Amino acid sequence: MVKMIPCTSCFSRICEKPPMIHHILPVGALRCNCSIFGDEATREAIVVDPGAEVAEIESILKEFDLKVKAIVITHAHFDHIGGAAKLRASTGAPVWMSASDEVTAMTLPVQAALFGVPMVTNPGIDRQTKEGDTLAIGATSFQVLDTPGHTPGSISILIPAEGKLIAGDTLFLESVGRTDLPGGNSKKIVQSITNKLFTLPDETIVVPGHGPNTTVGHEKQFNPFVGASARP
Ligand SMILES: [Zn+2]
Repeated sequence: MVKMIPCTSCFSRICEKPPMIHHILPVGALRCNCSIFGDEATREAIVVDPGAEVAEIESILKEFDLKVKAIVITHAHFDHIGGAAKLRASTGAPVWMSASDEVTAMTLPVQAALFGVPMVTNPGIDRQTKEGDTLAIGATSFQVLDTPGHTPGSISILIPAEGKLIAGDTLFLESVGRTDLPGGNSKKIVQSITNKLFTLPDETIVVPGHGPNTTVGHEKQFNPFVGASARP
């Protein structure tokens, strides 16, 4: 009999194949979920939202002998973008972000004042993301989905082979991203979630920008803002 081991990466499923390396590291005062993905064969890595605590991120990269191929920013809020310039300097990896969030990055001084936090460096964009863009580490493809609403250039990253979605601050466990900050749009965030994210398979694991993981199916049913329970 094959011994089934609980998957350390996808939490809710029993996997037969070992998943790719995936560390979710909550960083900074707002505990932004920084995702570090690594391919076991090629040792290539993708780091999503290195908002702070770059030394901690670097020590994980070193521990697993990973080389960063891309730094992906889901949106230009300080808690997600704050460590990107430093991580690029130490790894040489390009920063991927939507050009539609350049305007959000311009508000970093306003964000710092609003949240009473030190100003962070705007890394700029090395590679502008577009809907449908793919990047790969080893044989695993990462796909860019435009999910505006929390900010104009908010993106989500789908990893079909892993059954995972990195949702940034678009979708949370039984919540959605706030839209009251500059550039936020409540109609667009609902459209992004219902027309795009909710078309993904129910079992897709959602790794939000903050807090615990959830699944598309759970949010379709229980999300009080966009789920079945939100409808009269
Ligand atoms: Zn945000």
